[in-house]
Amino acid sequence: MLPMTANALRDAILKHLEYSQGKDLANASLYDMRMALTLAIRDKVVEPWFRANRASYQAQSKRVYYLSMEFLIGRLLEDAVMNLGLTEAAHEAVAGLGHNFRDVLDDEPDAALGNGGLGRLAACFLDSMSTLGCPAYGYGIRYEHGLFRQSFGPDGRQLESAEDWLRQRHGWEFARPDTAFQIGFGGIVAESGRAAVWTPDNAVLAKAYDTPVIGWQGKWANTLRLWGAEAIDAFDLDAFNSGDFTGAAAPEALARTISRVLYPDDTTDQGKELRLKQEFFFTAASLRDILRRFARECSDLSQLPNRVAIQMNDTHPAIAGPELVRLLHDERGMEFETAVDTARACLAYTNHTLLPEALERWPEALMTRVLPRHMQLIERIDALHAQRHPTRQATILEGGEVKMGELSFVMAHKVNGVSALHTELVKSTVFNDLHRLHPERIINQTNGITPRRWLKGANPRLSALITDTIGSGWEDDLERLRDLEPAIATPEFRDAFAQVKARNKSDLAQWIGQDMGIKVNPDAMFDVQIKRFHEYKRQHLNILEIIALWQEIRENPTANWAPRVKIFGGKAAPGYVMAKEIIHLINNVARVINADKLTRDLLTVVYPPNYNVTMAERLIPAADLSEQISTAGKEASGTGNMKFSLNGALTIGTLDGANVEIRELVGAENFFLFGMTADEVVACRQDPAHMAKAIARSQRLTRAIELIESGTFSHGDPSTYRDLTQNLRTHDYFTVCADFDSFWDAQRQVDQAWFDRDNWTRMAALNTARSGWLSSDRTIKSYMQDIWSIAPMI
Ligand SMILES: *Cc1c(COP(=O)(O)O)cnc(C)c1O
Repeated sequence: MLPMTANALRDAILKHLEYSQGKDLANASLYDMRMALTLAIRDKVVEPWFRANRASYQAQSKRVYYLSMEFLIGRLLEDAVMNLGLTEAAHEAVAGLGHNFRDVLDDEPDAALGNGGLGRLAACFLDSMSTLGCPAYGYGIRYEHGLFRQSFGPDGRQLESAEDWLRQRHGWEFARPDTAFQIGFGGIVAESGRAAVWTPDNAVLAKAYDTPVIGWQGKWANTLRLWGAEAIDAFDLDAFNSGDFTGAAAPEALARTISRVLYPDDTTDQGKELRLKQEFFFTAASLRDILRRFARECSDLSQLPNRVAIQMNDTHPAIAGPELVRLLHDERGMEFETAVDTARACLAYTNHTLLPEALERWPEALMTRVLPRHMQLIERIDALHAQRHPTRQATILEGGEVKMGELSFVMAHKVNGVSALHTELVKSTVFNDLHRLHPERIINQTNGITPRRWLKGANPRLSALITDTIGSGWEDDLERLRDLEPAIATPEFRDAFAQVKARNKSDLAQWIGQDMGIKVNPDAMFDVQIKRFHEYKRQHLNILEIIALWQEIRENPTANWAPRVKIFGGKAAPGYVMAKEIIHLINNVARVINADKLTRDLLTVVYPPNYNVTMAERLIPAADLSEQISTAGKEASGTGNMKFSLNGALTIGTLDGANVEIRELVGAENFFLFGMTADEVVACRQDPAHMAKAIARSQRLTRAIELIESGTFSHGDPSTYRDLTQNLRTHDYFTVCADFDSFWDAQRQVDQAWFDRDNWTRMAALNTARSGWLSSDRTIKSYMQDIWSIAPMI
């Protein structure tokens, strides 16, 4: 006899197989099975979802609207099953129907609607807002194609292909064809009394698609509402009837381009008209939706800030400022200044980066062409700010461009950085002038990660050990992991902890063997750097150290080396030439080193292609060492670093982003620190010969660079990596050379620590026990208190 829930679930699956998929069990494919399970589980989500909606409506509660160009949510089925407490029931039900539960879960494509950390943060926040009972909507774009799929050519270069997660039906979403807004572009502005009338010359339809987001134990659910673009008149019948079949479909094709692709550029402004249109498209649709919902509950627009908190995730939705002013002033007759102050009281802005190339700026001419009324309003907002603050220097408009960061700052009542160090740098650099005018506005909210996905779901063995040791309840109260500390003092617990890690590593080793045909030693240290490829993240520092290490092992193969498997993962923006060169180099270093019989047992390099959320869930629980080696001052926070320490990996890292806080939490003695501080990096660059001096001073670094230049990793061709090595020798903005020796020394300390395996385990377990503060529940509670002024509903 199956337990009741498994039985009931089995019946629900069978019902959906028949009536939703149109298949009987005998003919059901893996896809049919996954869809039937998804729909059966989705049915279970609907009830708490309605209940949460009713509760916030009845309480007339304030709601959060999280506007984000990206939501890197990954797979949803396993997470939903876990949150509903149905993992065992689902396993049993699926097995009872003759299918393998793991295979069914693995059939789901990743929803890769984001590039990296920024989009993953939005996904973790959705999870925490639902867990905490914070009434919220996530608003974004329903991209037809998420982030590109990465593969490697035979020569080791990155190849990109289109990702098509929507080729199969998306089982989680509800299409809302009756919730659609016309979003206009271009056209003319006519004065009409004190306000203006904007008549766009073209428009697309923004259609809503809702995905319920269930919280821990199904107590609350919010909505992720993604907008898809469609033509208003989908089809030109006259063109069709006259035989022009392609022309007949042109309006539809044109409109759809707006939600067709996620821009794969992680940090730089594409400078594309389409990008600006995407930003306005989803922001304007979301604001229209927000005001419509508000109007159903309240008719007094001055109450808007008491009901509506809009969070702008980076500057991508920054047009929300002028658009909300336009909706209030032009369309609803509110005084301009009142409209600006009302909008500001609703809006808040999260800054994610200080990299100058990533701070969005739009040419005024482009803005005037695409959004003529908004351009006028931006000028008025700038003028109003100048009038109120005569001493100011910062301006929104500069050199014929609109600076979206300044616009966001001026239109937000709170601006937050994402780690303590980053927030201080936001104050002292990019927004220094504005900070002095508005000293209360910038606050810190250190990022976090959801422990449901990143510990409970991704690492079931460690989760079971934790629950065995301290009981359950840590899943939504992660600081309770501190209760592990007394147990860590006992050899029994340390053995159990070490065994969990060993089994996770053995699983990963098997996957690497099957998927990549590389045999790795599961007893070696698994040393992992997975993240987007960028020069500031310094994957090239890591590969240079690997080359140097390889040389020294060759010279002295019988010395006491700690065997390592060096694991890389990550994509480079297709247009980012240098990042792609680094990928190319890593693959070729791997080819050469893995073929060296002399070092084979001590050093292996693996780089599985197409890093995504699912791969992160596979790799992180098996990691011994986490590489967080960015140039200090450049990584705003990082969240990958948090996932690793929570899962019991030790970090080798710089004092950058949230590494600073992680080190304070876990204890400096349980963290391998190296490299210059942010201030030292700035000082170091004052000397134009910093890289030359660093190379001259380091034999190891000299040899590693020369080995690349000799063609060792490029079939004897010395020119292959010339741009990369020349950049290191003459420019090296990210101070790879200046930090090299310090990195090498820290890696040798890692080796020494590895030899005392029991102590290593103790340090790793302390990382887990002390990572509770890194939960995104803590981050969201803090946003609710300091920015949104919203109380939890559960
Ligand atoms: C967590 C995560 C990131 C962010 O990693 P960082 O190391 O903080 O840059 C990027 N991509 C995926 C798939 C992630 O899960």
